[in-house]
Amino acid sequence: MTIDKEITGLEAIHLAAVDSDVRFITAVAGYPITAVADLFFKEKDSGFYQIHWFTNEKAALEAALGASATGRRSMVLVKHVGMNVLADPLMTAMMHTIGSGLVILAGDDPGAKASQNEQDSRFYGAMAETAVFDPATPQDAYDALNRAFALCEETGGPVIMRITDRLEKAEQCIRRIIRTVNGKKGTQTPGKKFDREMWKYTMHGKHQRFHIFTEPLMMHEAENSRFNRVSISGKKVGIISSGYPSSKVDEVLSTQLVYSDCSHLALGLVTPLPKNIIKQFIDKHECILVVEESEAFIESYIDTCNLEKVHGKKSGHLPVGIIEKEHIEFALENIGMDKVSKYTDMQTIATRGARPICSDCPFMSLYNVLHDIIPVAGDMGCSIRTAPEPLKAVDTGFSLGGSIATACGFPQKRIAVIGDFGLAHSGIIGLINAVSGGFDVLVIVLRNHIAAMTGGQESPDLLHVVTALVPDTILIDIDRYIASKDMDSAKDMLSNIIKEELKTKGVSVIYIEGKCIKS
Ligand code: SF4
Repeated sequence: MTIDKEITGLEAIHLAAVDSDVRFITAVAGYPITAVADLFFKEKDSGFYQIHWFTNEKAALEAALGASATGRRSMVLVKHVGMNVLADPLMTAMMHTIGSGLVILAGDDPGAKASQNEQDSRFYGAMAETAVFDPATPQDAYDALNRAFALCEETGGPVIMRITDRLEKAEQCIRRIIRTVNGKKGTQTPGKKFDREMWKYTMHGKHQRFHIFTEPLMMHEAENSRFNRVSISGKKVGIISSGYPSSKVDEVLSTQLVYSDCSHLALGLVTPLPKNIIKQFIDKHECILVVEESEAFIESYIDTCNLEKVHGKKSGHLPVGIIEKEHIEFALENIGMDKVSKYTDMQTIATRGARPICSDCPFMSLYNVLHDIIPVAGDMGCSIRTAPEPLKAVDTGFSLGGSIATACGFPQKRIAVIGDFGLAHSGIIGLINAVSGGFDVLVIVLRNHIAAMTGGQESPDLLHVVTALVPDTILIDIDRYIASKDMDSAKDMLSNIIKEELKTKGVSVIYIEGKCIKS
């Protein structure tokens, strides 16, 4: 069945999930995956699937594994940094084996438009020995997601599909596949459950089983995948690409006559890499350009044996992170050079433009107090935006939910600032460790009720958990205080409490309630 109107990559992913009979979905908010989750939530009354927000990616994957083991196709929607958090069960899942198909949709952010780093989820395929699809177009995304569920059930492990914001927004007419089982819409292998026979193997035996039985299946898939497309046009330059940048390469080759003799190998399945296809493609060309986001993932695999011949990010022909059409044109213009040094100006806040917190943020009086205290452990979310000039409120920011544990490493009692969403994500683990380990830390919880940076999802109230751990937690309603006095008084009040609490031993908590303007 073909849909005659153009649809977006987002809509293609949603349709593919429905057409693949997905029954259980978990999602953790964050750019660019929130947009996908929002669409799934919007359509949830169709009755095809259950969908739940989770505050933590490890828990989100564990829930989906439970659904898979008991016979329901499931999906996990996370941003790229969420892949780090769910890595623990992911690493085990391939050896443990699953039941029905389980696809992890990883939203990468090339260019780090709204993220704390610019990592590349494709590496998790290599680490977890899991297949990774990297579609270029909405049709590819639709087809790859359909295939991914079936592949999970053939290999007995989860599959990752990596997407980006530009793929979500791309538009294309797509062809739908609606499968039927006994005349009814359904999956090819309905209700496949986890096979307990796996427990006859030792952990080492399970790993052996993966390499003896599963890996050859995955290699066969990679070498014969319809998602890896080759078009040979000449012998001089061959371009290898994956994901959304493949559509940019197609655009350059189809619109610029001067490059019409370049060949193109577009990879849609990047883990495992189709080594034979790549080798044959490399052998046919004098020079190879690898076009990919965000890291030099494919380039790193192939340049070890073909150092002089392979160009890409590592040779300086292309920038780290996002790839635009102009970058590909520049790389092709300079393909004869071994090294290029064009992309050496490091982006700064001054060159990109500042992204400050809201000027009427209820926590502004606190940030003004923190300006004079060093070090303050910050967290992901709004507070990280107070690190640069002029506020300079927090000094570190390593991970979502990480500030309390970071402050445990400071030599004296110092401050950890954490939002309520960060606390529910994993910060509570840091608080448990701070209390049980006897650390001296002042934790300031910013309770604004929502995940403000990721779309305003509701954030659970953990006050009862916090007070169970730290009974003399100080509660402050900052809006009420400012309404009854003024901002300067609020700053003085907070400054005095913080000074007093920093003199005490052990863990102290100040729990500040404030109404976010986005709520
Ligand atoms: S989004 Fe809300 S919590 Fe974040 S800076 Fe703005 S007002 Fe403050």
